[in-house]
Amino acid sequence: MAHTHKRVYNFSAGPAMLPTEVLERAREEMLDWNGSGMSVMEMSHRGKEYVSIAEKAEADLRKLMAIPDHYKVLFLQGGASAQFAMVPMNLLRGKTSADYLNTGHWSEKAVAEGKRYCNVNIIADTKGSKYTTLPDASELSFSKDAAYVHYTPNETIAGVEFGYIPDTGDIPLVADMSSTILSRPVDVSKFGVIYAGAQKNIGPAGLTIAIVREDLIGETLPGTPTMFDYKIHADNGSMYNTPPTYAWYIAGLVFEHLLAKGGLAAMAEINKRKAQKLYDAIDNSPFYSNPVDPKCRSWMNVPFILANSELDKTFLKEAEAAGLSTLAGHRSVGGMRASIYNAMPEAGVDALVDFMNDFARRHG
Ligand SMILES: *Cc1c(COP(=O)(O)O)cnc(C)c1O
Repeated sequence: MAHTHKRVYNFSAGPAMLPTEVLERAREEMLDWNGSGMSVMEMSHRGKEYVSIAEKAEADLRKLMAIPDHYKVLFLQGGASAQFAMVPMNLLRGKTSADYLNTGHWSEKAVAEGKRYCNVNIIADTKGSKYTTLPDASELSFSKDAAYVHYTPNETIAGVEFGYIPDTGDIPLVADMSSTILSRPVDVSKFGVIYAGAQKNIGPAGLTIAIVREDLIGETLPGTPTMFDYKIHADNGSMYNTPPTYAWYIAGLVFEHLLAKGGLAAMAEINKRKAQKLYDAIDNSPFYSNPVDPKCRSWMNVPFILANSELDKTFLKEAEAAGLSTLAGHRSVGGMRASIYNAMPEAGVDALVDFMNDFARRHG
């Protein structure tokens, strides 16, 4: 390369950072993938080259997450937001109600969409705490007639994360894992459906992954659009229509990269350490605070506020100048938010902590 690139530590909640190694590999393969003479973007999704890319990505994801054979892995579009509708359309299966845990902004969206298709029982609601807490496992009880239970293991905006998987017995458990998938090992067999938009912790925007237990596939609500039927995608290897081919390819490179790094157990160790360093920096300074109950703090999204909010703009400006980008909090909560997904190097968190300490010294 004739020129070098300056990469910042990008704390965006999504689309978020991708591993530099993955981007470099994509650059190398950009004009000519593996001697094909084509960019992956230019390939037929039905050609043997692309099919090999797609199959490897799925196999690597199965290995990474230890996905049991009786689950389908679907590579879809429409984002997690489309899953808010696709879940009830496919999982009601003759029933008329479902249980939802309302623990934040994204739960609210899932609930609102669910209500278009069924009776939604809100079996836990933490809105009263401004979504800074989560229910204990012992506080949850599920409705006998619920077709499924839906929850959001990590709420990206308020920064709360469940430390346990709700035990719903025979009722299928559905998880919107958009902002925590691949951050640590998870027992897939505890879930009916896991879904995630790719742009947080998987790959580029445009791809949505759904991991669906096979027995939940095949019965949809009357009027369900073909594209919203899990069965159509399962039966066609996620190639009923043209899939988001390039995003799927990059996701595959990320899976390969994570396997080479030691898989999700290794990621969990690093992620836990990164989060701890940042929360320690916040808790140990009177200058910063995080409102979330310490036992449900997210490893992935860390909101924090400055004691003096008049310094917010200066903080953001100086951070940007120090190569620490996209730290503004969500517009609904203000303050700051550092999203520290897998691709955020530990050195990025160290740099943020150093910056925060220095900023507090100069302005405190
Ligand atoms: C970002 C996000 C969404 C929305 O995802 P889209 O792919 O934009 O539809 C939903 N749920 C959670 C938990 C998210 O973090």
